[in-house]
Amino acid sequence: MYKKITEQDIKVFKDIFGDNNCFVGDEIASEYAKDEIGTIVSFPEVRVIAKDKYQVSKLMAYAYNENIPVTVRGAGTGLVGGAVPVLGGVLLDVTGMDKIIELDHINMTLRVEPGVLMLDIYEEVLKNNLFYGPDPGEKTATIGGTISTNAGGMRAIKYGTTREWVRGLEVVLPNGELITVGGKVVKNSSGYPLKEMFIGTEGTLGIIVEATLKLTSLPKYSTSLLVPFKETSAAVKAAALLIEKHVTPTAVEYVNQPSLKYSKEFLGKHMPHDNYDAYLLLSYDGTSKEALANDINIASELCMEYGAIDVYLIDTEERNSSVWTIRGAFLEAIKASTPLMDELDVVVPRNTIPEYLEYTEHVSKQLNMRMPFFGHVGDGNLHIYFCKDDMEEEVFAEKLKKAFDLMYDKAFSFGGLVSGEHGVGYAKKEYLARQIGPTQLELMKGIKKLFDPKNILNPDKIV
Ligand SMILES: Cc1cc2nc3c(=O)[nH]c(=O)nc-3n(C[C@H](O)[C@H](O)[C@H](O)COP(=O)(O)OP(=O)(O)OC[C@H]3O[C@@H](n4cnc5c(N)ncnc54)[C@H](O)[C@@H]3O)c2cc1C
Repeated sequence: MYKKITEQDIKVFKDIFGDNNCFVGDEIASEYAKDEIGTIVSFPEVRVIAKDKYQVSKLMAYAYNENIPVTVRGAGTGLVGGAVPVLGGVLLDVTGMDKIIELDHINMTLRVEPGVLMLDIYEEVLKNNLFYGPDPGEKTATIGGTISTNAGGMRAIKYGTTREWVRGLEVVLPNGELITVGGKVVKNSSGYPLKEMFIGTEGTLGIIVEATLKLTSLPKYSTSLLVPFKETSAAVKAAALLIEKHVTPTAVEYVNQPSLKYSKEFLGKHMPHDNYDAYLLLSYDGTSKEALANDINIASELCMEYGAIDVYLIDTEERNSSVWTIRGAFLEAIKASTPLMDELDVVVPRNTIPEYLEYTEHVSKQLNMRMPFFGHVGDGNLHIYFCKDDMEEEVFAEKLKKAFDLMYDKAFSFGGLVSGEHGVGYAKKEYLARQIGPTQLELMKGIKKLFDPKNILNPDKIV
């Protein structure tokens, strides 16, 4: 179906990217055949590192004519195989496009190349007393990757997901043409929302080569609360009630004893007050100390009213860093506790979380499989892990399929969706089709065909 890459093609790639930025065969390290979850493995025929958008445009014009598949890769921290070149071809690494181009104080925008890391964006805006809202857990992800997956993270409950923070994009289309969608403007009612098409579509419709991000003024004051509860259901019910009472935190994370244990083993550190079974970890921010203190007081009173055992104020830099470092390490700590795992990044209406988590425990017992979980309970987004432990590979594969089927069917019956923030990629295609049904699937396929008639850009993903 696709052309196999020849010596002549490699010569062309070396002309575009330079000999030092073009890797073939054994020169390609195994990390480029997978992403962070590691369950989907496929080597590209060639890996190239782009330094600017014109190289990307030249590559795509050539690949389009020659019918060669191209998959874009940011930092490879994705969890659904989105950046894995499952049909071979070229892996286009954009981490070399890492310039912060312009911070515009009047329009409050930041223009960046796609390979800029999130940690560099946070540092840049903070030193200018400004703020970028999305806060996905992995700070070494690229901005291009987070836009392409519409990444969420801890602050989504208050500040929304990446989509709400992208004002404009420059994109290379599958045929090599360069277009600009949106810009520095705040409002836009100008025709079909093409910019939106490149956000959350995982590099299947175009390659983001520049982004203009919205910034706001920095919420100067912030504090966290660590709130232990007797059991999971009390904690997650309290999270929904806090939001109902309009004391919306910046983050509402559910933390339980098993995740704390894995994290302690992984980091060798422990969190203060870590002897309870279930917690809410709340954070609040604001532009004045008084407003923040008011929110904290109301939230603390409400938590006690909703069954909290206590409310601990995490108000020193040391305590704050300890608690959030431990929370931030959950995924890697669970990964380190088993030779192989897979992940469910499901999102359900927040009022159904208690019942969904009860069901999770039921499935774990039914399948006799360890299924640790944690989640952004404020926005209904749960991360549930299926651990292989010492199971035989075939047994694990069978149980994994059953677990995904059961957990997704339950989520869909509650009005939930396949992915809250990690995307569909390659791993969740089957379940997207099941969730949206044939009419929407055909619409999505039609959109893909319009942007990419030869199906060369990140093929075999999403639809
Ligand atoms: C410890 C850990 C914590 C995490 N926490 C969160 C979290 O809180 N919230 C969250 O949403 N995610 C989280 N993730 C998942 C991951 O970090 C995000 O999906 C992130 O957006 C991926 O960025 P990346 O640069 O690594 O992209 P990659 O993994 O390289 O690629 C992801 C997808 O984007 C496409 N892509 C990359 N760059 C471009 C581009 N320039 N143009 C077009 N397409 C492109 C790829 O083709 C692929 O389909 C976490 C991952 C880990 C390992």
